[in-house]
Amino acid sequence: MRHAGDREKMVKIRFAPSPTGFLHIGGARTCLFNWLYAQKMNGKFVLRIEDTDLERSKKEYLEEILESVKWLGMDWDEITYQSQRFDLYREYAQKLIKENKAYKKEGAIFFKYEFTEVSINDLIRGEIVFKELPKEEEVIIKGDNTPAYNFSCCIDDALSQITHVIRGEDHISNTPKQILMYKALGFEIPQFAHLPLILAPGGGRLSKRFGATSVREYKEEGYLSEAIVNYLLLLGWSPGNNQEIIALKEAKEVFDIKDVHKTGAAFSLDKLDWVNSEYIKNKEIGELTSLVKNYLKKDDFLPLGTKTDYLEKVVGLFKERITKFSDLISWAHFCFYNDFKYSDDTGDILKKDLSKETRVLIERMSAIDEFNKEAIEKEFRAAATNCGLKARDLVHPVRVALTGRRIGPGLFETMEVLGKERVLERLERLINHWKKEEG
Ligand code: GLU
Repeated sequence: MRHAGDREKMVKIRFAPSPTGFLHIGGARTCLFNWLYAQKMNGKFVLRIEDTDLERSKKEYLEEILESVKWLGMDWDEITYQSQRFDLYREYAQKLIKENKAYKKEGAIFFKYEFTEVSINDLIRGEIVFKELPKEEEVIIKGDNTPAYNFSCCIDDALSQITHVIRGEDHISNTPKQILMYKALGFEIPQFAHLPLILAPGGGRLSKRFGATSVREYKEEGYLSEAIVNYLLLLGWSPGNNQEIIALKEAKEVFDIKDVHKTGAAFSLDKLDWVNSEYIKNKEIGELTSLVKNYLKKDDFLPLGTKTDYLEKVVGLFKERITKFSDLISWAHFCFYNDFKYSDDTGDILKKDLSKETRVLIERMSAIDEFNKEAIEKEFRAAATNCGLKARDLVHPVRVALTGRRIGPGLFETMEVLGKERVLERLERLINHWKKEEG
């Protein structure tokens, strides 16, 4: 029964990363589910930096975590740093000592557990009764005066009035300890939700051994932030109706923490690649081009002075074929550089000397006014017919001449993108190649 004057408590959620490494894929998913739930409930989202380990916490990790959270499209209402609250944790430890709930021993302060049955109503897993109780005592303030995780976590969650603690299942054994500390401190206990683990493809934890595990690595490989977010959403949740592509904006409306699955979610790079390629295909070409431009500029891959118009054509040529931007570094190399070698596996295609036929092709190509794929195709086919060849007999060596590779996007589109001058130069180069082979 609600009483007059009772108000629904405002939902307040937190994500609490330790800046001892880059933002892990698992951390990003925890952050995302927290953030979404805060959004859905019109609540507040707090970022709490758990930088109590002064040696392992690094500024570069902190900066990267904040940057990645923003890059993924999330923001926060408040940010707090545990390293600025050491006095507060010590005060609470002193209070517990006074109340005979903690004691000092060999330089550290220990908490005395007051055992009562601990059970929670986990928002994802339902009722959990903790039968295995913690050891009798637990360090809460370490010898170097820094707080232990369970203690600072529970004080901060209580003081910042966190209503829902949503974190990975790997923390499940900490929950009863924290609940006993809440009780000792006289704090109100929040609700808990434990997210299923993200498993490596063959089972087991998603560790470095598996490959890229940080958001930053995926960003560097040229994945889109929206695609990563979409994929993370699918790790333990689904919008239903077999829908797999869902934007953050839409997820905000339909996400509910109680719909998160109980069982572990296996990470699949193939699936992420698929999601990413869907986002690439569907992105507006102008926006896609500017993302690609930033990406390719990074390692000075993009030659200085590359025009945006040209880049847009290159992106158009590849957007249906790539899974991530880094694919362009090898696949689209020929679009930016003339000095490529014919790849080793093209020997069989270049075996037959078609210099005479290529010469005919050069003539036909030179005569085209509007160098677009329709005109190119028409003249290309005419050249082949004139020489008594099937178009495909000419397509293969010409593709090698223009791109250095056996396979690639449609040849006539490729020619249009490269432009007449480059096409003619590269056809001449092919003829020279045959001449050299002969000599
Ligand atoms: N710093 C802890 C972690 O990164 C936070 C755990 C929690 O959310 O309570 O795992």
